[in-house]
Amino acid sequence: MSEFNINTIVKDFPTLETKIYGKRLIYLDNAATNLKPRSVINSIHEYYSQGTSNVHRGLHYLSEKATDKYEMTRDKIKSFINARDRKEIIFTKGTTDSINLVAATYGLEFLKEGDEILVSEMEHHSNIVPWQLLAKKTGIKIKVIPINDEGEILLEEYEALLNEKTKLVSVVYISNALGTINPIKKMIEMAHQKGAKFLVDAAQAMAHTKIDVQDLDADFLAFSAHKMLGPTGVGALYAKEELLEQMPPYQGGGDMIDVVSFEKTTFNDLPYKFEAGTPNISGVIALFHAIEYLEKIGLENIISYEDELLQYGTKRLQEIDGLKIIGIAKKKTSILSFAIKDIHPHDLATFTDKFGIAIRTGHHCAQPLMKRMGVVATTRASLSLYNTKKDIDELIYALKKAEEIFR
Ligand code: PMP
Repeated sequence: MSEFNINTIVKDFPTLETKIYGKRLIYLDNAATNLKPRSVINSIHEYYSQGTSNVHRGLHYLSEKATDKYEMTRDKIKSFINARDRKEIIFTKGTTDSINLVAATYGLEFLKEGDEILVSEMEHHSNIVPWQLLAKKTGIKIKVIPINDEGEILLEEYEALLNEKTKLVSVVYISNALGTINPIKKMIEMAHQKGAKFLVDAAQAMAHTKIDVQDLDADFLAFSAHKMLGPTGVGALYAKEELLEQMPPYQGGGDMIDVVSFEKTTFNDLPYKFEAGTPNISGVIALFHAIEYLEKIGLENIISYEDELLQYGTKRLQEIDGLKIIGIAKKKTSILSFAIKDIHPHDLATFTDKFGIAIRTGHHCAQPLMKRMGVVATTRASLSLYNTKKDIDELIYALKKAEEIFR
C-alpha cells in the first residue's frame, strides 16, 4: 500500500500556493471542480510546447506520439474502471456530454412512446434535462425515485416504480450536493431484473470511490476529468460493447467515418465511431496523469483520509448555532452541505471569501433536490485529498465570525 503523506500531497498542487486577499487559499469547492497536480499541468504545457499535433491522422513523428499518448489514456481508464475492452471507452467533453450522447443515440434509437426512464430526486441537472429533451422528441415518460429526509434513495419506492415499461434507469453514484453514496450495484441488479438498462452518473464518484464497471454490471457510466484532478472540458462514457455496436453515431465529422461518399457513408469501428472531430488532445493526455496521480496516492488511502476529514468536519460544524447539515446519509463522502438559520448562504460565501475560503453556495445544479430538502440553496464545503483539518478549523472560525456579524 502506498504512503499517504498530506504534506507532500499539498505541495503537488500549485494552486494551493495562491494567496487570496493576502491569505492562504483554503479550497473547499472540490465538488465544483478540483485542483490539478503539477504532473497534470505539466503534461498540458508539454503537449503544446513540445508535442502539438493532431491524432489518428498523420504518419509523422509528432502525430504518432500524440496518438500513442492519447490512446494510452484509453487503456488507463479501461484498467481504472475495469472495463472489458478499450473499445468501451469513448472520449467526450465530460459527464454532461456523455449523458447527452446516450440520450441522443441509444435514447432516440431504442426508446419510444410509452417507455419509461427512472431518475432519482437527487440528480444533477445534466442527468435530468437530456431525458426531458428526449421525452419531448419521443413521448417517453420520466419517473422520479424519491429520497428520504436524510438524502437516501428509497429502495422500496424504486422497486415499485420498476416495471416492464422501464427501459432505462439513470442515477448518480455519489451526490455532488449531499455526498450520499447510492447503493448503485443493488439498483443495477434490480433494474436488470426488469430488463432495464442502467446509466451511472459517476461525475462525483471517480475520485472518491473505487469503480469496477464489470462488478457493477453498469450498462453506461459517465464521468468528467475535472472532478478527478484532470482538466476541464474532457471526460468519457463507458458503455458495454454490445450496446455501442447497436447505437448510431452521435455526431458526424472527421475520424468517425470509414468511407465517405455523397451516395453513402460508412462509419469507423469502436470507439472512434463516437469521436467525431479533433478532440481535446491535451486534455485526454492530462487525464492519464490525473489517474496516475490517484493511483500513486492510492484510492483506498484517499477514501479513508477523506472520511476522516468528513467525520471531523461534521463534528465541528455542530459548534455553529442554528446550523443544519443537509444530507446525512449513512453512507456518504466528504461533502458538507449546510444551512445556517437567519444567514443567507450567499452572504455567508461572500463573507468567508474574505478569509481566502472557497466554498460554494447555491442549488449545485440540483434544483429539484433543493426543493425536496426544503431549502432554496445550501452552503457546501466539499473536501478533497489535499484538504486538512486545519482547513476545516479555518472554515469553522470564519463561520463563527459570520454568526457574530450577521446575528
Ligand atoms: N453529475 C454530477 C453528479 C456532477 O457533480 C456534475 C458536475 N458537477 C455533473 C454531473 C456534470 O459534470 P460536467 O459539468 O463536468 O459535465
